[in-house]
Amino acid sequence: MSKRVPITVAHGDGIGPEIMAATLHILREAGAELDIETIDIGEKVYLAGNSSGIEPSSWDSLRRTKVFLKAPITTPQGGGFKSLNVTVRKTLGLYANVRPCVSYHPFIDTKHPVMDTVIVRENEEDLYAGIEHRQTEQVMQCLKLISRPGSEKIVRYAFEYARRNNRKKVTCFTKDNIMKLTDGLFHKVFDEIAVEYPEIENEHWIVDIGAAKLADTPEIFDVLVMPNLYGDVLSDVAAQIAGSVGLAGSANIGEHVSMFEAIHGSAPRRAGQNLANPSGLLLGAVMMLVHVGLTEVAERVHNAWLRTIEDGIHTYDIYEEGKSKEKVGTKEFAEAVALRVGQSPQTLKAAAYKAAEDVAEVAKDARPARRRAKKELVGVDVFLDWTSGTANDLGDGLGKLSGDGLKLEMMSNRGVKVWPGGHAETFCSDHWRCRFIADADGVGVSHAQIVSLLKRVGEAGYDFIKTENLYNFDGERGYSLDQGA
Ligand code: NAD
Repeated sequence: MSKRVPITVAHGDGIGPEIMAATLHILREAGAELDIETIDIGEKVYLAGNSSGIEPSSWDSLRRTKVFLKAPITTPQGGGFKSLNVTVRKTLGLYANVRPCVSYHPFIDTKHPVMDTVIVRENEEDLYAGIEHRQTEQVMQCLKLISRPGSEKIVRYAFEYARRNNRKKVTCFTKDNIMKLTDGLFHKVFDEIAVEYPEIENEHWIVDIGAAKLADTPEIFDVLVMPNLYGDVLSDVAAQIAGSVGLAGSANIGEHVSMFEAIHGSAPRRAGQNLANPSGLLLGAVMMLVHVGLTEVAERVHNAWLRTIEDGIHTYDIYEEGKSKEKVGTKEFAEAVALRVGQSPQTLKAAAYKAAEDVAEVAKDARPARRRAKKELVGVDVFLDWTSGTANDLGDGLGKLSGDGLKLEMMSNRGVKVWPGGHAETFCSDHWRCRFIADADGVGVSHAQIVSLLKRVGEAGYDFIKTENLYNFDGERGYSLDQGA
């Protein structure tokens, strides 16, 4: 007898309990052998005084089962409540957000009849690290962090996902023509890892034209992998243009725990009326079944669902006079899917899942050991809050502070070079980047030299708001040049 698979389930708020009951009913009828632990999350936990919407004891269940099937929750209005999704994602290190965006033409209305793409979004890094500062009266800063291990994890996950799901191509979107170091690293890692998957086609697009193509001709894409911000925006665009926001499920994959859900919210106005469409959560649960290795059950559920959609049995949100055959409620829809377990779609492509190793495990094990590069300190960017004159005035003043192995090389304002040789037309804010570099070629500088420079800068009356050390790694420049260079 096969062993039952432990999972943690949260029934959520609004329509959550109804769509979860429908989903679990279908899974049971399809023969999923699950050992379910139930936890409370959402509104009532928030209102009981827990600002993250989850009780401390629930983490034990998640760590024990490692699999979380989550219904949508309602975040109460007003301040002080933290997003549960962000808390779970950050606490458990759920690094990959996977969202299939599929159209079901001719059964559900769509502008893109043959769309079948999967967006794999990096979920932990990029501008979402949440490191922001106000540095001057006029300027705010948000740090964009992209790491090599983070990029390797997500890119390998995308290729492993493609291999496991018989996908033919992985496309990477970045903006590395502008962000040569951060997005450049993501792109470089993509190219390195793609070589290990010769049977899968790979390509890279600059995100702006890539996004335009995705919105216009999504059928040219298969699996897409991208850093956090682009993935956040484009996974919503992709779900919307597939015509199926209410039908999409998603997976949040971590090395230890993974979470599966619908992409929509708790739709409180539809709650308790047997109206909601359980399909998004059900398709999230299908991803969960594949993840835990119950691939045959996943196939049975997915194909029964596709057949139900083909048979025109639709909830109110996708019902269309003439196209649909029967308008049903949540429970009746679940019953219709359960009745079709064992059947396959006749027009739509049937689902087929390969039993394979856990994709996240493969992605983790493949991480190569790397030699650390030789790191050499060669200068410092000193950022000033300054409003007392022109760029030339500042250049003259700071130039006098060169010495002790460091010389003022250039200054920029919001990335545009303004000294030496700036242009009168350039608008200057109160936020100046002043680059001091080792004054002898091939000779590094020490922390002590930088500290002594900062002392001179401070004593001369300048307000330095931050510094960034300039390093070379194995002789390769580890910082960007200014835009005017
Ligand atoms: P929503 O996704 O709940 O609803 C948007 C629209 O889609 C509504 O018209 C709703 O009736 C409809 N809809 C959504 N799911 C449906 C379904 N399964 N069947 C039929 N119709 C459906 O978005 P919202 O109204 O902006 O948010 C409501 C609440 O959900 C908020 O408290 C929000 O914070 C929360 N939310 C939670 C999650 C989550 O738990 N993952 C995600 C998004 C929003």
